[in-house]
Amino acid sequence: MLDRVLKELEKLLPGKVLTKEDALLAYSFDASSLRGRPWAVLLPDTKEEVLEVLKLANRYKCPIITRGSGTSTTGSSVPLGGGIVLSLTRLNRILDFNEEERVVHCEPGVITGDLKRFVEKYNLFYPPDPSSYAFSTIGGNIATGAGGPRGLKYGTTKDYVLALEVGLPGGRLIRTGPKTLKKSSHYNLTPLFIGSEGTLGVILSAWLRLIPLPEKRVLFLVRSKDEAKLLGFINQVLRMGITPSSAEFIDQTSLLALKLSNHPLVRTEDKALLLLEVDGKACCVEKEAQAIEKALGEFGVSFEFSSDASEMESLWEVRRSLSPSLRILGSKKLSDDLTIPRRYNVEFLSYLRSHEEGSGIHITAFGHVGDGNFHVNIYFEEGDEEKARNIRESLIKKVLELSGTVSGEHGIGFTKKVYFAMELSEEELNLMRSLKALFDPSGILNPGVKIP
Ligand SMILES: Cc1cc2nc3c(=O)[nH]c(=O)nc-3n(C[C@H](O)[C@H](O)[C@H](O)COP(=O)(O)OP(=O)(O)OC[C@H]3O[C@@H](n4cnc5c(N)ncnc54)[C@H](O)[C@@H]3O)c2cc1C
Repeated sequence: MLDRVLKELEKLLPGKVLTKEDALLAYSFDASSLRGRPWAVLLPDTKEEVLEVLKLANRYKCPIITRGSGTSTTGSSVPLGGGIVLSLTRLNRILDFNEEERVVHCEPGVITGDLKRFVEKYNLFYPPDPSSYAFSTIGGNIATGAGGPRGLKYGTTKDYVLALEVGLPGGRLIRTGPKTLKKSSHYNLTPLFIGSEGTLGVILSAWLRLIPLPEKRVLFLVRSKDEAKLLGFINQVLRMGITPSSAEFIDQTSLLALKLSNHPLVRTEDKALLLLEVDGKACCVEKEAQAIEKALGEFGVSFEFSSDASEMESLWEVRRSLSPSLRILGSKKLSDDLTIPRRYNVEFLSYLRSHEEGSGIHITAFGHVGDGNFHVNIYFEEGDEEKARNIRESLIKKVLELSGTVSGEHGIGFTKKVYFAMELSEEELNLMRSLKALFDPSGILNPGVKIP
């Protein structure tokens, strides 16, 4: 059957069907540790070609694994059980842009950083900023519901998608709702596709909302000898009526890795760092920055701050260099982006530390703690797998007890399905399965991803 499918695909997409071993290898992994060799890789150039592929795949019940840049951390773009990878990187055009309306219409393969730079030329701002924005795609960001440091003030990808064009199995094309800024006519299908991880349809274009580019930014780098105390400072700033654009936390275990790699910004006495940024109209930002400076003085922590673009970049570098530095903590890793209501940040952190102490295992808790989103990485060595898995399960149970969720921005993919099942009631799970069956009755889209 596969031979026939490949022959028909070659007719549909001449020269755009990859079957050589090196190409298959290149599409067999993402940023998770999972691997799966695809049967073939398709590189369509247009949405019409994608719709033809969806028609054919449905006819042969052939699994289709949609892929953007393949930076998923959960295996969601890996053909774990085989199947054909549908790469959308060539659908990378900006289709329309209206400066007054502040809306851009683009294809899914547009790189997020390119879109940001394009609208900035018009003094407009597309805020979602996953750390991978230099190489991840808009389609991938929508399909995973991607977020980033600026989520605290500006929200995440979900807050900027007005409507989507989606290709469904069988080659049907739908628009998920009107592209207008206001709408109350339709059942709003747009949110259903945000975070759907390629399981419901293939996003073929997106209308995205833009906002004015902030005039000014001020970044504080705060150092503390007590990590819980630093978490408390974020709440204090929020109580002052200030919403920082970012509140990025670097916890004591992550700092240990930076110290071991001799990071020039990190001092021996630091137990935690907070990167706190405010932005907006120049006059307001100055007032907010003054208020934060005063509060930090009273709080009794040391800090530095800057509004100079290149100085801010070098302060942010400490956060960006974190992920590669962490490898020093252990040769194996279990990775989660656990999210809780912000009020429980301190309680969760102390619970996490109680599992780390004396265990011989390192547990990080860095990230976007302004929105309660902790990047919890458990680092361990060969032989400690069971201990690490037990710790992971216990932390996830705690998150659920605190009414949190197993993923704030990376999605479920394959790696978190077991834990996602703990979050869902039987009815909620059945409803998810029914929705999947409604859009993809033959189950050809990303089989095995997301749904426990
Ligand atoms: C160094 C690094 C830093 C990261 N930082 C962040 C971060 O700060 N915040 C964050 O949220 N994530 C982060 N990620 C995770 C990842 O970058 C995001 O999940 C991103 O949104 C994936 O985009 P992608 O184009 O690589 O999609 P892929 O990895 O190719 O695909 C991801 C999922 O989306 C589906 N998909 C892709 N395109 C489409 C489409 N057009 N239609 C339907 N489904 C589609 C795929 O099937 C898959 O399920 C990071 C990853 C790395 C490697």
